[in-house]
Amino acid sequence: MTRVLIVEDEPQLRRALGINLHARRYDVVTVADGGGALRAAAANPPDLVILDLGLPDMDGVEVIHGLRGWTQVPIIILSARDGQDDKVDALDAGADDYLTKPFGMDELLARIRAALRRAQPNEDAPVITTETFTIDLAAKRVTRADVEVRLTPTEWHLLEVLTRYPGRLVTGKQLLQEVWGPTHGVETNYLRVYMAQLRRKLEAEPAHPRHLITEPGLGYRFEP
Ligand code: CA
Repeated sequence: MTRVLIVEDEPQLRRALGINLHARRYDVVTVADGGGALRAAAANPPDLVILDLGLPDMDGVEVIHGLRGWTQVPIIILSARDGQDDKVDALDAGADDYLTKPFGMDELLARIRAALRRAQPNEDAPVITTETFTIDLAAKRVTRADVEVRLTPTEWHLLEVLTRYPGRLVTGKQLLQEVWGPTHGVETNYLRVYMAQLRRKLEAEPAHPRHLITEPGLGYRFEP
């Protein structure tokens, strides 16, 4: 059984999450604060963590740092509507995804399934195929309708980082640091320029991208 640790201080939401996940045959552990989360995770390592950012005893981002010290378990953040900066901090700290409250239970369940799928090692699939283009990560080659698309080294690197995390939001800071180096992190105009170029080369309708998605104020997401 897949063990899910739920960290949420609102009793009603905590109970609703527990009941819904238990009904889907997840093995559920619920706690109401950050200290309890770190203790529960250490005692019985979960397969996935659902973490509210606003906790009574510590910031949810501290919980992420605590977990990331020893585990790569998928972490899905629950955050308040106005917490845009908090979301970026949480994603930069190593969270995998986020949901803004209030959210639908079906949406959460879909995110859980996606996060668990991504957590499965997938080393034998260096080729990513979308309906518009195909990326061969081993050969460093992108084709569109069987015709090779020429990418600059920077465009390629950006695409490579995004496709490493299919379906997952990658923050602007993370992309800048991976592609341009650790001293970067604020030059989001670089990203806008290069993402526009990638969309022109790869998307069927660059103005309405289906694979290279912007998450305003947060970062970018590759949807296969
Ligand atoms: Ca809360």
